[in-house]
Formats: sequence, C-alpha cells, structure tokens
Amino acid sequence: MKYQPVIGLEIHAALKTKTKMFCDSPNDPDEKRPNWNVCPICMGHPGTLPVINEEAVKKVILTGLALNCSIASDTFFERKNYFYPDLPKGYQISQYQKPLCEHGELEIKNGKKINITRIHLEEDAGRLQHMGSDPDASVGGGFSLVDYNRAGVPLMELVTEPDFTNGQDVRLFSEEYQLILKYIGASDADMEKGLMRVEVNISLTNADGSYGTKVEIKNLNSIAAAAASVDYEITRQKELIENGGEVVAETRGWDENKKQTFSQRSKEEAHDYRYFPEPDLPPLHFESKDIETIKTTLPELPAQRRERFKKLYGITDAQADHFTSARHLGDYYVHVASELDLAAKDFHIKKGLKGDEPIEPHVLERLHELSANYIVTEFPALFQAKGISINDLSGFKINPEDFAELMVLVFHKELSSTGAKAVLLEMAETGQDAEQIIKEKDLSQVSDSGALDSVVDAVILANPKPVEDYKKGKEASLKFLIGMAMRESKGKGNPQVLEELIKNKLNK
Ligand code: ADP
Ligand code: MG
Repeated sequence: MKYQPVIGLEIHAALKTKTKMFCDSPNDPDEKRPNWNVCPICMGHPGTLPVINEEAVKKVILTGLALNCSIASDTFFERKNYFYPDLPKGYQISQYQKPLCEHGELEIKNGKKINITRIHLEEDAGRLQHMGSDPDASVGGGFSLVDYNRAGVPLMELVTEPDFTNGQDVRLFSEEYQLILKYIGASDADMEKGLMRVEVNISLTNADGSYGTKVEIKNLNSIAAAAASVDYEITRQKELIENGGEVVAETRGWDENKKQTFSQRSKEEAHDYRYFPEPDLPPLHFESKDIETIKTTLPELPAQRRERFKKLYGITDAQADHFTSARHLGDYYVHVASELDLAAKDFHIKKGLKGDEPIEPHVLERLHELSANYIVTEFPALFQAKGISINDLSGFKINPEDFAELMVLVFHKELSSTGAKAVLLEMAETGQDAEQIIKEKDLSQVSDSGALDSVVDAVILANPKPVEDYKKGKEASLKFLIGMAMRESKGKGNPQVLEELIKNKLNK
C-alpha cells in the first residue's frame, strides 16, 4: 500500500551505576560542577587502560531479559572512531557486531507487539555548551564549553524493528520501556535530565510496498515530542511526495514552539567509523547459569503488576495503570487494601453490629473500589496543597490505616462525600485520624429522618416557587430543594434521606 508509515526507534538510556563504564569516576547525573567526575581514563590520556563495569553489563542483560531478548553467550566491545570535541579518546567504546541482547519483543498497552532488534552497551560522550556570539554577554561568545562529567557514563542503546505506524504507538512503547527501566533499576530514564533519549526513524512506503527514504529525528526532549514529531512527519512526507517532491535522507530536529520538524543536516555520505575490536578489553563469555542468576533478580514488571492489581482488587484498567505508573501511590494502595478488612471489623465491633464475623467478600470488594476511587480522584489535590511529589510520599501525613478507617466510615454512610473531603484535607494537614476530626469538627452525617424533618420543613416553606414547579413535574426542582436542604443542614444531611423526606412531604 502507498504511503504506509514505517517507523523504528533508537533509545539511549544512561545506566544507573555508582561509577562510569570503564573507570571508577562517579556516575552522578546530578553533579553540577563541570569536569568534576573525571579521571585520566575517561579523559582518554595515553597509557591508561579501561576496566569493564560489571554492574553495567548485568543491567543491560536484565533489560534484555525483561524484553524477552536472547542474551549473547559471547560478546566483545569495539571502537567506533570519529572526531568530536565531546569525545576525549577520539573513539567511543561500543558494540557493533555482537550486541549483548537481540531479538526481543515488548507488548504495549494496546496489545500490539513491537520487535526489538538489539540492545547494546556503550559509553556516553561529554556535553558541549555553545556560547552564542552575544557581544553583551559577560563572558563574550563565539566559543564552546565542554563538560566531561558524562563522558564514559555507561549507556545502553535499544533499537527496534521498523514496526510502528503512528505516533501514539511510539508514545506507548517509549512510556512502557521507560517504566520497565525504572522498575528493574537499570536507569532513572528521566528524559528532562537527558538520561533517556528517543530518536525516531520514519519513512513512507513506495507504491510497490517497498520502504522509502527514511528521515531521522533527534533531540526530542520528551515522549510527547517524539509522538508529535512522528505524526507531523507522516503528513509532511506525504504532502511532499504528492506535490512531486522527494524525501531526502537527513537528520531533522523538533521545534517545540512551532510543533514542526526542521532539517538539521543531510545524511548524504555515510560515516565510516572504522569499527574494530577494542584491544584493551577482554571478550565477555557467559555461562547459562550466569544468565539464570541475573534472571532471578528480575522484579515484577509493570504489565504483571497491572494484571495483579486488577485481579486482586477488582479495580479498573485505568486505576491499575495509574498505580503502576505512580508506583509509590500503588504501594500505598496495597497497604490500604491490606487494612480494609480489619478496619471494617473494628467498625462492626464499635457499633455492636456483627462482632468478629468475617467481612463479606462483596463488601470488601466495594471497599477496594471505593479506596481506589478516592486515592485517584482526591489525592492529587492533597499532594498539591502539601507540596508532596507523587514519587515520594514520605511527607504525606495520612497513613494507610487511618485512610482505610475513613473509607469504612464513608462506606457505612457515617460521612457524606463532602464531609469525607473535608476530613481528608484535615487528615493531610494534621495527621489526626478520621474519628478524631469528625468528632472535633462535628462532621458526621445525619441520616436520622427525625433530625432532618425540621430542616426539610424549613426549606419547603422558604422556597414556594420550586415546590410548585416540582409538583408540576419539574424534576430539576427536586435537585434544587435537596441542595438547599444540604446547605441548611450544613452539609451533614444524608442526601438520600433528604430526598425521601422531601418527596414524601410534597407527594402527599
Ligand atoms: P542506519 O544504518 O541508518 O542506522 P538501521 O538499519 O540501523 O539504520 O536502523 C536504524 C533504525 O531505523 C531502526 O530503529 C530501524 O527500525 C529503523 N528503520 C530501518 N529502516 C527504516 C525505514 N525504511 N523507515 C523507517 N525506519 C526504519
Ligand atoms: Mg543505526
């Protein structure tokens, strides 16, 4: 078919290790002082010798296992020769002929499977900072600065088959891969810090179905930008061809403001990197038991966690997904869920209801759902108010036991949803438990119709027009009257009881 998009990804991720790939300089992406974490080895001084970082090798293998790759039993490093000021040695140690991992696959959230061509291990380059030529700048301009803190940091490159056809799938793949890297501890994969870098290759098929000329898009600083650049580029290439033009092989960048790709440099002559085996490093050999040992350290992966959460707690796909992406919040939910049974029993005992009887499964199920709903919808505002990051809940004052207790109170209608929100806010503020707050603030919901009778009478008396309208069949007026009664009861009236009372009185 004509103009079918063909897209493949290359994703670099900086590995999370204590030291660099071939020396003991610290690997610290947060180091702000330039050229602080450097030594003669990563600066490429003559006479120095590299030593392989075992932790980095293990992390690449772990990544390969997470993506169902086959792991090479024998592999080696090679030199990729090119000159650039951010590359002190004049070559990058990389892998070309025999990557550590090959032939994997990753299923993305919409069920599509993307084939992984390879994952190999290499070292990162330094960072250049180009000082413009602003004559007013205090340091002048027209020169570049180089920071070698990143030079020699272990870098893992994943290459996919050209299996994508649109930006959305590129987004889903990149997000899933990023999450896996975090789960297995291979990389922090933070794109803003440059710890993960996505490059997109894209072409359209020719009339005979063969692949067209591909364009590479680099310098994408977010997954959203990667997805948007793909969709933009599909349209650009199609229009170009339809107007008699030709796609040229080139590297393009992404302009975030204009939401457009732009030409950076043409790819006319292929680079000759003169790869050859790195003579200063031994080849690597793994026994299958070595790989098995690494496999035992593979934790639960995001896809497995989503399934477990859905099965165990009966929550929605979206909630299970949220508790997987926001891992700490998911752990919090697990803790809450483990407390619900006990909290429900405590409630029975306190109210003299059923004593120590087991909680019925359907009640527990409702409590699981209720808790998930509250956490997903109500917590973001609490986090924002208290300046708490979803990735670090350590400062959050609502402990899971207290939250479970609150959910039981809501379930038993001891508290209206408005009341519950007020209690949550107070819990986040003070760290007190729900019962204390309800008592102090007098928030418990009134469901006793005797107590609400006079409230309803007053509302009916004060609102003759809506009362008439309701009697004539206008349902919206009932809603209005319930609202007025809620206000009259200072938010404590049980809305269902109020509705019943109003209906009874007006239908008489
Ligand atoms: P190169 O030699 O130009 O680096 P590779 O064959 O190594 O090309 O592939 C690099 C990336 O480009 C891979 O992700 C691959 O899936 C993708 N790719 C290969 N051919 C095409 C194509 N015709 N259109 C889009 N992407 C492609
Ligand atoms: Mg390539």
